[in-house]
Amino acid sequence: MTLPVFKLLRPRTIEDAVANMLEHSTHVSILAGGTDLLPSMKQKLFSPDYVMDIRGIEDMHGIQVRAGMGVEIGALTPLSAIEDSEYLRRNYRVLHEAVKTVASPILRNMGTLGGNICLDTRCVWYNQSLQWRRSCGFCIKKDGDLCHVAPGGKKCWATFSGDAAPALLCLNAELEIVGPVGVRRMAIKDFYTNVGDKRMRLEPHEMVTRVFLPESTKGWKGSYLKLRLRGSIDYPLAGVAVAIRQNGGPVEAARVAITAVNPAPLLVPGAENALIGKQINEATATVVGDLAAKTAKPLTTSGLTPEYRREMVRVYAKRAVMAAGASS
Ligand SMILES: Cc1cc2nc3c(=O)[nH]c(=O)nc-3n(C[C@H](O)[C@H](O)[C@H](O)COP(=O)(O)OP(=O)(O)OC[C@H]3O[C@@H](n4cnc5c(N)ncnc54)[C@H](O)[C@@H]3O)c2cc1C
Ligand code: SF4
Repeated sequence: MTLPVFKLLRPRTIEDAVANMLEHSTHVSILAGGTDLLPSMKQKLFSPDYVMDIRGIEDMHGIQVRAGMGVEIGALTPLSAIEDSEYLRRNYRVLHEAVKTVASPILRNMGTLGGNICLDTRCVWYNQSLQWRRSCGFCIKKDGDLCHVAPGGKKCWATFSGDAAPALLCLNAELEIVGPVGVRRMAIKDFYTNVGDKRMRLEPHEMVTRVFLPESTKGWKGSYLKLRLRGSIDYPLAGVAVAIRQNGGPVEAARVAITAVNPAPLLVPGAENALIGKQINEATATVVGDLAAKTAKPLTTSGLTPEYRREMVRVYAKRAVMAAGASS
């Protein structure tokens, strides 16, 4: 499979990147690490006139600890830098746990946090070559008008399959977004639409430039567990992130989020109340597992059955709560 023909843009500043997007309108695809975009272009899922390689924008790299104000992570920071950060491992455990499960070491060297957050949604009917899709019939997400997963419906249910986002939801992270009208900040919980073919709330010509981890979730215990086909390298088919604040006594604050079972990563409603004021034990973990399974709405977007993936959300949520409780 070959890449389609495109022109390469290489801005050195955020302002240049926005100007490039404005000049070339909707025909520009942003390339960060390229570990998801380039395989998709080879499958002819995208054939942009322009690919804008933003890796030369220095301002979007690196992890900055701001005393008393949390941490700022540039969107172009490689996942391996987060994995290698002892500060993040000690203070924002759930993010560290989630990031180290992404793909493989080589892909984590290349793949960025911003690319992971903005990852395209996935579906077994969509992430295929052009020939495969043509022979089976195109679908709503690309070139067609029906959904093989939910025939009769008009919505795309392709699944958000990134690992970092559920951890960032648990940490109450915010995103910095830059576009033609300036800079804005958005809580990551408001960023995703839960619609498979329009996954995120970015306006035309906007991009994610930074991620903020608040001081308020610093030091929370955390755990992340995921189901995947190959343990050494694979997108999640179900994933659960748990973060809790606990100082020897009962849980003081908590958040649980799931990924890869809905078109968006989602916080589990009710999990916070189920944990606050309680000790972590089998009983509280079981309640959270049931709530997580209720939030998961997997469909036949992957090779594994929806029933199995939903059950694994229940099992992993329970295990992740126990593991978070036991973590330092
Ligand atoms: C074999 C394989 C296994 C994988 N396994 C996993 C896995 O287990 N878990 C997982 O989460 N991912 C997995 N991935 C996907 C990918 O490697 C990671 O998600 C990676 O973090 C993507 O980052 P990137 O910088 O390479 O993104 P890119 O491929 O450069 O971009 C991804 C998408 O985000 C957009 N984008 C990138 N940066 C920005 C920005 N700053 N603002 C706005 N839009 C932007 C791009 O236009 C593109 O649509 C896997 C990929 C492969 C090939
Ligand atoms: S969920 Fe339906 S519309 Fe969306 S990619 Fe899959 S088959 Fe296509």
